[in-house]
Amino acid sequence: MRKVYFDHNATTPVHPEVAAAVQPFLGDLFGNPSSIHWAGRDVRKAVEDARGEIASFYGCRPLEVVFTSSGTEADNLGVKGVAYRPGNAGKHIVTSRVEHPAIMNTCRFLETQGFRVTYVPVNRQGIVEPDAVRSAITKDTILVSVMAANNETGCIMPIEEIGAIARGAGVLMHTDAVQSTGKVPISWETLPVDLLAFSGHKVNGVKGAGGLLVRKGIELSPVLHGGHQERGRRGGTENVAGIVAMGKAFSVLSKSMGAEVAEVRRLRDAFERALYDRIPDLVLNGHPTLRLPNTVNLSFRFVEGEALLLNLDMMGIACSSGSACTSGSLEASPILMAMGADPIDSQGALRFSLGRGNTDEDVEYAVDAIGTVVNKLRAMSPLYHPREAI
Ligand code: PLP
Repeated sequence: MRKVYFDHNATTPVHPEVAAAVQPFLGDLFGNPSSIHWAGRDVRKAVEDARGEIASFYGCRPLEVVFTSSGTEADNLGVKGVAYRPGNAGKHIVTSRVEHPAIMNTCRFLETQGFRVTYVPVNRQGIVEPDAVRSAITKDTILVSVMAANNETGCIMPIEEIGAIARGAGVLMHTDAVQSTGKVPISWETLPVDLLAFSGHKVNGVKGAGGLLVRKGIELSPVLHGGHQERGRRGGTENVAGIVAMGKAFSVLSKSMGAEVAEVRRLRDAFERALYDRIPDLVLNGHPTLRLPNTVNLSFRFVEGEALLLNLDMMGIACSSGSACTSGSLEASPILMAMGADPIDSQGALRFSLGRGNTDEDVEYAVDAIGTVVNKLRAMSPLYHPREAI
């Protein structure tokens, strides 16, 4: 059976150059990067080279890169690191209603610790409006955290404008750039953002390594207390293989991101067009243009997303539904609900996210399979009345 992987926003395959770069660190290069003897020195150099590659990709200083175990930990460090630092003027945080759980649940936790959080809404197309952030900021606000792009819909947020508003108010700005990294250009030098989270496994690195960019001069309270690694900002022996992998993945991105993004966009657009041509009653969840070049989230009306997902899996197609199965009942994705989407339609929502390695043949096969399964499921649905039959 053909296998088609259209779930790159969940994770990406390891790039062959990344796999090769990691090999020596599973063998002879086993030292602890904090050791000053021979076994540690080469490993320290590899960690610092990786830091340099990541810094050069974003256009920041190597010292501004703090390695973490994941995008989730980087988000935790960004938000809690600001919340708990001494001398804050207030206890209020502004974020959005469509953040990844790494931010959402961190903010919810902070609410139990005496912080106040405002969750600003998004518009019908899933975009956070800068004015909503502006009006949420009070004199008590210490941090604005808005994602650079949403993982479910691919919506690209106006981070420059939101960052400028935060700066104007003297408030720090964090952005979760886990999904936008490698898909849209980011220039740290001109971006009015103080903290930026990324993750290796979303850019063809390996799972379990991420990082936070921390603008020079900003003090954070560590979340992991331990040794002096990462200049005291994150204790714990570094995940050397994961960091080396991330360094290589970013160096590959620096060389080939433009061409790869253009190709993925071409395939995504062809996929999306072919679905609209073939299948009636589709609803796009997200913005038509302010959207990651690899992502399309569609509601297949009169079909249950989970049923569609399972049927597609049986045909070798990997994609994702935002709905969570809670105690046997399917709940529509909170992200789509925050956008004001129809709750019934949202039950039939699927996210397709393309990436490196996908081909025209993948698109053709997937469109065919989706068309077939949707027809089959609709034929069984008591709710479905084809337009021509009405
Ligand atoms: N933020 C966003 C927007 C994500 O999509 C993800 C992963 O899906 C994360 C954070 C968490 O990253 P990690 O899987 O490295 O913890």
